[in-house]
Amino acid sequence: MQYVSTRGSAPALDFEGVTLAGLASDGGLYVPAQWPRFSADEIRALRGLAYPDLAARIMAPFVAGSLTEDELLALTHKVYGDFGHAAVTPLVQLDQQHWLLELFHGPTLAFKDVALQLLGRLFETFLERRGERLTIVGATSGDTGSAAIQAVAGLDRVEIFMLHPKGRVSDVQRRQMTTVLSPNVHNLAIEGSFDDAQAHVKRMFTDGDVTATLNLGAVNSINWARLMAQVVYYFASALQLGAPDRTVAYSVPTGNFGDVFAGYVAAKMGLPIERLIVATNINDILHRALSSGDYSAGGVTATITPSMDIQVSSNFERLLFDAGGRDGGAMAEQMRAFEATKAMQLTNAQAEGASALFTSARADQTETARALQWAYRAAGQVIDPHTGVGLHAARALADNGTVPASVPLVTLATAHPAKFPDAVERAVGMRPALPARVGDLFGRAESFVEIAGDYAATRDYVLGHAGNA
Ligand SMILES: *Cc1c(COP(=O)(O)O)cnc(C)c1O
Repeated sequence: MQYVSTRGSAPALDFEGVTLAGLASDGGLYVPAQWPRFSADEIRALRGLAYPDLAARIMAPFVAGSLTEDELLALTHKVYGDFGHAAVTPLVQLDQQHWLLELFHGPTLAFKDVALQLLGRLFETFLERRGERLTIVGATSGDTGSAAIQAVAGLDRVEIFMLHPKGRVSDVQRRQMTTVLSPNVHNLAIEGSFDDAQAHVKRMFTDGDVTATLNLGAVNSINWARLMAQVVYYFASALQLGAPDRTVAYSVPTGNFGDVFAGYVAAKMGLPIERLIVATNINDILHRALSSGDYSAGGVTATITPSMDIQVSSNFERLLFDAGGRDGGAMAEQMRAFEATKAMQLTNAQAEGASALFTSARADQTETARALQWAYRAAGQVIDPHTGVGLHAARALADNGTVPASVPLVTLATAHPAKFPDAVERAVGMRPALPARVGDLFGRAESFVEIAGDYAATRDYVLGHAGNA
């Protein structure tokens, strides 16, 4: 499989190339040159497969030329054999129409583990082949950092420097990063905000002193391999609910448009998806873009769903490119204008292409809390606030008939409630406990360094400690 950039001028690469590159050299994002398609009979034949076997079948066309079927199967069994639930991503029924797809049975209790656990192994495989090493530098406001650290801890050819804003991530989130005492893991608590930490990371990627000595890599959701791994659970859940002989709808709590774009990919591959609901919190740029064509960034407001407090959704570019007719030159022009003005209007083709499958909805904090209360009272399920945003949107669009009552509606449960215990306790009056497999998190030793807020101090620490693992 070859991959092309959404901005048209970077060279096409194979799967190994896009996994190690992350962002394309023209600033675009890589997408497959064409979507692999499964017929209804081929999808029917996937029924009953165990998750690691299903994952290998779904991902095989995307990795063709870079991994053999046996190599891929060995990876999926290693990665998904370690999850906290035998089904990996189990479905839970809430009522006649509504279901939850639990994506939080990985080591850090959020859906990002499903993809990052695989990405860590892919890095190791490809670096081994090339005889190279990779230094990952990232900034996190919580979930991505811990999932990335857990994914690469102990690997030989990868090391990771993860910056978090000192004192501004939750205790659970910090401990999930700082209690990983592996020599290839470096936690940096930076004075300042998440945006300051993020700015240091971006600057390092263009700092000649850094790029001359280190082979830098990124783990954010612009990496195609992450999206690919997320396509699998759309197939797994739809198959259980009767696909391909029945359509299924999804509601996806969305920030960077990664998880929900994976649903779009599943539909392109032939999975009969009735509708994809893009659920946002009050930081609703995607809701405005999909309902009125206006993609304009405002300020970010902090909410009880911090992993969705995002102003610009990187992966939206992939949808605009594909739905708008795959014109890389026009896309580069459109994104240049957006970067200058922080606003753009979707073209007619983009708006029509998107509305064929996507509907959007937003939830404020009161509506989110009410969704948590409904799940608890009606179905005995304690859910996290991000999942609550998705469930609010699902119920609203089922109630107004956008999703017919005969279609099963699956809300993606993106985090375990114990990751956000304060907001859950305020909504439903009980404090969720951490699952036993991470239960000693508060008894473990932590390791991190505190760094002053300036760029030079951060860069000097990374340069001084890289390669010593
Ligand atoms: C990252 C995250 C999201 C948003 O996912 P995107 O792929 O960025 O849209 C939603 N919920 C939780 C708990 C997350 O960690």
